[in-house]
Amino acid sequence: MKEIKGNPHNLKDPIIGKFCTKNNIFAKDKILFCTKKPLFSVGIKAFVVPTEGMFKTNLPVIEIKNNEIPFDDEDVLNISIEGKINVLWEVKSDNNAFYVTDICNSKCIMCPQVEGSCVRYDECLETLKLVDLSKHVEIGITGGEPTLNMNKLVELLKSIALKAPDKKVHILTNGRNFSKIENVEKIAKIKNIKVSFGIPLYSDIAEEHDYIVGVKGAFIETINGLYNLAKYRQEIEIRTVILKQNYKQLKTLAEYIYRNLPFVSHVALMGMEYHGNAETNYDLVSIDPIEYKTELYEAVREYVRFNMIVDVYNLPFCLVHDKVQQFCRDSISTWKKTFLPQCANCAVKDICSGVFETSFTHSQNIQPISKNITDVQCN
Ligand code: SF4
Repeated sequence: MKEIKGNPHNLKDPIIGKFCTKNNIFAKDKILFCTKKPLFSVGIKAFVVPTEGMFKTNLPVIEIKNNEIPFDDEDVLNISIEGKINVLWEVKSDNNAFYVTDICNSKCIMCPQVEGSCVRYDECLETLKLVDLSKHVEIGITGGEPTLNMNKLVELLKSIALKAPDKKVHILTNGRNFSKIENVEKIAKIKNIKVSFGIPLYSDIAEEHDYIVGVKGAFIETINGLYNLAKYRQEIEIRTVILKQNYKQLKTLAEYIYRNLPFVSHVALMGMEYHGNAETNYDLVSIDPIEYKTELYEAVREYVRFNMIVDVYNLPFCLVHDKVQQFCRDSISTWKKTFLPQCANCAVKDICSGVFETSFTHSQNIQPISKNITDVQCN
């Protein structure tokens, strides 16, 4: 989430509003950025200004350090009473998601998310009122674990269905709460919405999956959740983050999924973001993608042979086997994506996923590629 810190004045409560840089009648109810004293300020929710003490007002004002604001007109912002400005919805991005909580019932050893105590379902409902969903093909719902408050999640989904019927919504969840069939029923019953679920499975060995997730019994809960979702014909994507603990298991996991979870519509094999727990546990979990090049290739080949749809997320072309490159997707959210200086001379930079800006370290093996990516058969 993009964030800047400002110096707040007159802020008693957090503010959610659309950002704008033009002060006119359409600025009503918005958060206005101004570099000089505005001639009028009817209905403005708050001002963002680059100069200290620029003008006197009883309305909320956030002074920031310079003119360079990372927001676009119509972005939805949240201003905390401490003066932190976060973007909740980027109008120009294809990666918008409702971030409903940062609390989780799993404790994955490589989770990039720093766990907190924020519950944001109501903030998301407020944001939903302000955004134009017709501009976005698919909406994400993420956390933390979005199913922790199932009733609030259902309320959010119903509100999306009402505002933008038949919108595609992808929920990132560990799937464990769907081991209770009544939770699946609640979501399956919602009309006029196309929900899909992205659910992590790290290994076909229960103990290994549980170790990575940090919760005993997580594997069986997730598998039961997957079967319950399948019972209600829900669309499911399996997500496997690759780390030191599971890279040798990728091929057998492919076979497990093919044999036991044939209803899965998509599998994503994912590189790690070295942030949060992945940074704290770096020595425990880290592995350079170059080191699992063969295992990744063999897993992808297995999925292809099983006629399952597989993609590789968060891994740049230069770190994977030639035959895997065609499966690499530009998957890193725009605000988190960056390139290293050596990428400047790379022939495939325009279509590469790049690397996580949020990672504290990157592979030493990133190097420019001189030829374009070709569709070589993965066999
Ligand atoms: S050098 Fe950079 S742009 Fe080229 S494949 Fe590697 S990460 Fe991508």
